Amino acid sequence: MSVRVRFAPSPTGYLHIGGARTALYNYLIAKKHGGKFIIRIEDTDEERSKREYEKLQLEDLAWLGIEHDIGPGKEDEFGPYRQSERLHIYQEYTDKLVEAGLAFYDFCTDEEIEKMREMNEKEGTSAYTGKWREEAHFAEAKQRVAAGEKTSVRFKVDPTKAYEIDDLVRKNVKFPAQMVGDFVIMRSNGKPTYNFCNVIDDHLHKISHVLRGEEHLNNTVRQLMIYEAFNWEAPKFAHLSIMIGEDRQKLSKRHGATSVHLYKEESYLPAAMNNYLTLLGWSHPEELSVFTKEELFSVFDENRFNKSPAMYDIEKLKWTNGQHIKLMSEDVFFSYANEAIAKDHFYHTQSDEWKKVCLSLLREKINMITEIPKLIDESILNESFVQTDELKDILSWETTPAILNHVKEELKKEEGTHVSAESFNSWMDFCKKELKIKGKPLFMGFRGVLTGQNHGPDLKVLIPLTPIEILRKRINSL
Ligand code: GLU
Repeated sequence: MSVRVRFAPSPTGYLHIGGARTALYNYLIAKKHGGKFIIRIEDTDEERSKREYEKLQLEDLAWLGIEHDIGPGKEDEFGPYRQSERLHIYQEYTDKLVEAGLAFYDFCTDEEIEKMREMNEKEGTSAYTGKWREEAHFAEAKQRVAAGEKTSVRFKVDPTKAYEIDDLVRKNVKFPAQMVGDFVIMRSNGKPTYNFCNVIDDHLHKISHVLRGEEHLNNTVRQLMIYEAFNWEAPKFAHLSIMIGEDRQKLSKRHGATSVHLYKEESYLPAAMNNYLTLLGWSHPEELSVFTKEELFSVFDENRFNKSPAMYDIEKLKWTNGQHIKLMSEDVFFSYANEAIAKDHFYHTQSDEWKKVCLSLLREKINMITEIPKLIDESILNESFVQTDELKDILSWETTPAILNHVKEELKKEEGTHVSAESFNSWMDFCKKELKIKGKPLFMGFRGVLTGQNHGPDLKVLIPLTPIEILRKRINSL
């Protein structure tokens, strides 16, 4: 069987990270099996669906590098792939079910439906108790439809039947009989319901595996009934574990950003997003936690899904981002940083050479590119020191005043905007050879008087990056 999988977003908002994970898993399964990854736009909800959102969601997927093979604008012979362009198809299949006696026109009034709902709620059932299910009323219903009356169509559920699936995530799932009552497949406005058009499309689009969020598990029983009614083979299902926040509640905005575009705006790396999302409900066969999606093409295995809820941990995502930052080539990192660092930051006033040295110095220390400007502010642009106990200690050593004096004198002589690495080395050499200061008193003495701290980035690189005016201000503040 050829593998054809689909991501079927409803274009009613931005791409959610849960949706991105579903898309990614589908994409990886297609890649693993040399199959096709399809995008189907489920836009039958006229009020909530917007073309603009479809565009934005596709842009976010493209940012993640999750490119589809087939979909709107990339049709194959089984399209179209936008549900709003398939309404005639749903109508045709509705008619088939009605003709076969497997669905019926329902003329119950809103009040009758409301009464039924109240009764069902009271009794804990979901049965349809209107009269239109009965054969005896079919002829009348048909006449009313032929006369142009608009009405909804319900699927006739056999309450004696139970269903089960062999889910790739949840294994054997049983749906007991009587779980659902006769459900609407076609609304009176000619719009099909999700469960109906989803099945028609998955069948006609030749979908082999349906991977989607666990919240759809309850819909699956209705869908199985429709497959059965048409005598169609159902695809393989995988209901992916839900995502939860640290408080074990379903992931929502209170836990942080849930839309992909916000991560894009915060300059997260798409490779890191993909890496992290892949591990929310799936584990690598070699237990690896850092990889690219391309490295998964051969190893992604649909039997390694985990059914327990996946904890969304933003710190872990940031860590993963840091790992991918370390994996980037220097050139790629340079253009990424130039793009991501705010245009009005001091960084952009410096030469390319300065930027490259600065980035290579700070890259090891960060998980997020947005930490770079902060690190520059703190370790390169700060003009005076906080008198910490550590600094007081260094300043109290008997060797430190000599270092301080020497640096002060040398800084007076410097003419450029920055101290060269050679100059800085010669200051150190002088203190070592002429003043006989060695080891910790030498290194820590320099660090203390020049940075006000007892630890930090390599001084030989950091000091030449620091504007000389700032070094002078620091020294004079001591
Ligand atoms: N449009 C549905 C959603 O966005 C698709 C569910 C499915 O994949 O079947 O949740």
